[in-house]
Amino acid sequence: MSHKHRITILAGDGIGPEVMAEAVRILAAVECTCGFTVARTEHLVGGAAIDATGHPLPPETLQACEKADAILFGSVGGPKWENLPPDLQPERGALLPLRKHFGLFANLRPGICLPALTHASPVKQELIAGGFDVLCVRELTGGVYFGAPKGRHEENGEPVALDTMIYKKSEIERIARVAFTAAMGRKKRLLSVDKANVLASSVLWRETLIEIAREFPEVELSHMYVDNAAMQLIRRPGSFDVLVTENLFGDILSDELAMISGSLGMLPSASLGTCNSNGLAFGMYEPSGGSAPDIAGLGVANPVAQILSLAMLLRFSLGEGAAAEAIENAVALTIQEGFRTADIATGLPHETQVGTRAMGEAVLARL
Ligand code: NAD
Repeated sequence: MSHKHRITILAGDGIGPEVMAEAVRILAAVECTCGFTVARTEHLVGGAAIDATGHPLPPETLQACEKADAILFGSVGGPKWENLPPDLQPERGALLPLRKHFGLFANLRPGICLPALTHASPVKQELIAGGFDVLCVRELTGGVYFGAPKGRHEENGEPVALDTMIYKKSEIERIARVAFTAAMGRKKRLLSVDKANVLASSVLWRETLIEIAREFPEVELSHMYVDNAAMQLIRRPGSFDVLVTENLFGDILSDELAMISGSLGMLPSASLGTCNSNGLAFGMYEPSGGSAPDIAGLGVANPVAQILSLAMLLRFSLGEGAAAEAIENAVALTIQEGFRTADIATGLPHETQVGTRAMGEAVLARL
């Protein structure tokens, strides 16, 4: 009997609906070939929802997400809504509440530079020959962004501001398990990034990672200070497999990784909650980039990040790993054969420059 899954699609603003249309066509194709069905409902979010209902995350959108196994998210925001009060703005008013509501504590950001796209990376070619494939696992709901006390006051007539970097052991344990599990499905190498030479929260982080490593004897665990990790990522990205780190360090390192990978239009991301007994988690999957208002409506956006976000959804929330792999292979083949949207095109003779729809079609043809 075929598995039946349910997802909610939130395409959002800007290029969101354009790239989502391609991901949905790919989903329909893998449903046919891989023998499962995905019931899907589409709802408004972000600026589109503000225009229609006055709120970036209307109650019916949230209710639809609650009934689903996962959310496939496009992107939100744009100049039209930039001057609204912060809580009514598309990102603050929709993305953050969704993360909070569903307890999405694990952010998975792959940084993949395919061998055919190393020229798009700002890193010297000789350092990234053959491309690289790194997965950054970032803790998303703890650390200095949320720690208390936090705020501003005066001391001896002078303004003072403080933030608190705080982690409970249980918060570190659960993100460690996500990272070890991800490493098990890859090259079985996990690098934990911390600042244990200075920060008490990092000492607990490191101790806990070493403890959890006993549950995953096949995974080789190593440690690196965050300042060194920032340098080594540029110097030898190909030597990394999975790296796991706390919220602030992960915020910075995952963007560094996106930058050295070449194009934002190629990179998916996943934000996951707690795993169930089958090892699957509710998650929200979205491109690493934003709504790209500069190219919205032109039909030139790269749909690959959205398509690869769908692949992550199939793997981590629906347990359809074979379909995920088929999509990832089809994308790699499409790039290898020279299909390029404008963001990754260089004008080399073997390249065919295409728009959003044709790129989606090229992937579909190679599935
Ligand atoms: P952006 O990621 O939207 O765009 C940065 C650059 O990358 C632009 O030149 C854009 O054209 C390009 N780009 C991004 N995705 C692309 C794709 N798929 N194909 C080709 N080119 C692509 O970042 P920004 O310009 O800083 O932000 C634009 C809007 O998006 C803002 O309103 C911002 O708040 C919002 N935003 C939303 C999210 C989200 O929904 N998760 C994330 C980041 C930014």
